[in-house]
Parts: sequence; C-alpha cells; structure tokens
Amino acid sequence: MKSCVKKDIHNGIQPIRVLKHNLTHRLVDRNTELINELHLNFKLQNKIKYHIAELPLIDKQTPFIDSNGLINIHETYLSYIWTVTYSMFVLYEEGISIPDYIKRNIGSPKKQNPELLDLVKELFDYSKSLIRAYSEWDKEYFPNPEFFDENTDEGWYILRTNDLYVEVLNFVLYHEIAHAEFEHINKIKLNNLSNDEIKKLELEADTRAIELMLFNCRNKNATEIAITIGLASMLFTGIDLNGGKYHPDIDVRIENFIYKVNLKEDSSIWAFLVLFLKLWDEQFSHNFKHKKEYDTFKELYYELIEQTK
Ligand SMILES: [Zn+2]
Repeated sequence: MKSCVKKDIHNGIQPIRVLKHNLTHRLVDRNTELINELHLNFKLQNKIKYHIAELPLIDKQTPFIDSNGLINIHETYLSYIWTVTYSMFVLYEEGISIPDYIKRNIGSPKKQNPELLDLVKELFDYSKSLIRAYSEWDKEYFPNPEFFDENTDEGWYILRTNDLYVEVLNFVLYHEIAHAEFEHINKIKLNNLSNDEIKKLELEADTRAIELMLFNCRNKNATEIAITIGLASMLFTGIDLNGGKYHPDIDVRIENFIYKVNLKEDSSIWAFLVLFLKLWDEQFSHNFKHKKEYDTFKELYYELIEQTK
C-alpha cells in the first residue's frame, strides 16, 4: 500500500519537497572544511534560497549563485531532475542492464518488469513538459518521492532514485560552490569578460565540481552516473547542443567530464550517454543513423555525437 512520507517541515508544492533537507546534508558532509572556509571568507552564504513557484524551467527556474554567494535553486528544476533521474535509471536497468543479464544467461540482481518501462516513458514526457509549461506532478499516478509503496518495483526504484538524485544535485550545487570559491561572479563583472571567457569559467566550475565529488564518494560509478545526469539532462531543453551565450556546448562539457574522470572503455556511463542521445534524437527527430552492430557503447556514443555536428 502507498504511504505518504511528507512531514510538516517539508514546505513546497511538488512532491520533491520531501528531499529538500537531504540535499544540504550530503553537500556539507562531503567537504565540510571547504564549505566552512568559504563561509568564513564570506564567499558562500550558509543557506540556500529555495524558490517555490508554478513556473516552467525556461522561466529562469534553473540554479545559479549570485554575487553575494547565495545559491538559488528552484522546485521546478528539482522536479525535473528527479523525474529525469528516475526515467534514466529505470530505462537503463530495465531496458539495457537486465536484458543483458538475461541474454548472457546469468542471474540478474532484479526480476525484469517491462510494464515499468511504459510508465517511465510517460513520466519522462512529464519531465520534458516542465521545460516549457508548469503543471502539477500527479503523485497518484506517477512515481514520486512523497507518496509510494516501497515494497513494489516502482518503490524499489524510488528509494534508489532518491539517493541518486541527491548525488546529481550535489554535483549541480558544487558547480555553484566552485563559482564562489574562484570568485567567478566578481571576475566577470570587474573584468568585463567576453562570452568565450565566461564559458571557460563554466568549464572550470564543472572540473572543480567533478574533483570535489570524486574526492569523497561512496561509489565511484554511482557518482559518475550522477554527474552524467547533471550534465546531459540539459539536452532535452533544446534542439542542438548549443549551451547558449554563457555556457559551453553540452558535448564539450560532457567531453570535459569524460577526460577528467578518465572514463574506462567498459564503463556503464557510455550506455547512459547513448540513452540520453537516443531520447534526444527521438524528441527532436534528428534521425541519427548507426550501424546495426557495434562493439562498445563508447563507439556508438561517438558515432551519434559525430552526427550532431
Ligand atoms: Zn555555472
């Protein structure tokens, strides 16, 4: 039976409100020394501004840090990230990993549940709808972190998604913290930096966030998946890889991550990246082509990326 985990302290309008406090816990735990130092130097404020608004992502509902070191996050963005994370996780497990276990005739850690794939396709449509139009997250129908039955397959994935979601947000928040640490906002203002120079700072913030994430993590692969989701989730917001005026192109940011973590040929990250590109291809009808047979997901990833140019 489904039960509700919401308590009085959880304010907000979307089910993601129940994970609000989990975000900061792990963030501070991870690099307490650095966070304390940044507080003491007035580079970073010791609270995060949490915006609650019935607005779509394109209505400035994406995270940023202001010149006073105050990080701003928005409930729509958090809902978007949770639903994308759940969708990607289930699509990977049920659509790639478990079928592979079955094909190779080795016992899978979990029984396959093909019905979940259909539900996730609908959930993913809801994620994408949040980019341009806000609507309420139907928590009777869709998987969500607030109202669920943990003894079902759906619930099994919800508990694990919650953990992965916190990790994704840790990456996103450490990116903002890196801006504070390197005083990027002031540098941009004082030196009147060009757009290309600003893009370099964005890459620098990514690199620092990756470093801080991997410096202290329980499971390297899970952290890498989280960083992948953090970077690639932005794909669905536009028809091309263009990062806009101030951000590097999405493939450039992903390539920086691949290089930084020295991604191994057999890493599951390649399959995640392919999954992202295929969903994006479907969304915007790019009609990417690829060979029927390929040796590795890495090979397939670069074959697809080549066609985005
Ligand atoms: Zn940034």
